[in-house]
Amino acid sequence: IDTALSAMELLYQLLAIESSNGRERISHWGERTLDIDILYFNQEVIQEQRLSVPHPRIQERRFALVPLVEIAADLIHPT
Ligand code: AMP
Repeated sequence: IDTALSAMELLYQLLAIESSNGRERISHWGERTLDIDILYFNQEVIQEQRLSVPHPRIQERRFALVPLVEIAADLIHPT
C-alpha cells in the first residue's frame, strides 16, 4: 500500500482494523480470524518491541512469498 503513516502508526491502524472486525486469537501461534502483518516497509529495518520489519519469518512462508513475487518481483530483502 501507499501510506503517509510511519510503520508504527500503520501497525496501530492494522491492529484497530483487526479488532474492529472482531478478531479473536484462539492461541498464541494458533489460528486467528484475521491477521494483517507488515511484511516490508520500503527498505526500512525496524527492531522495536512491538514491531519487527521485515517480518522476521517471511523467508519461511511460501504463502507470503509466492503472492509477493506476483506484485513486487523486483523487491530485494533489505538485510
Ligand atoms: P500476530 O497477530 O500473531 O501476527 O501478532 C501481532 C503482534 O505482533 C502485534 O501486536 C505487533 O505488536 C507484533 N508485530 C511485530 N512485528 C510485526 C509486523 N511486522 N507486522 C504485524 N505485527 C507485528
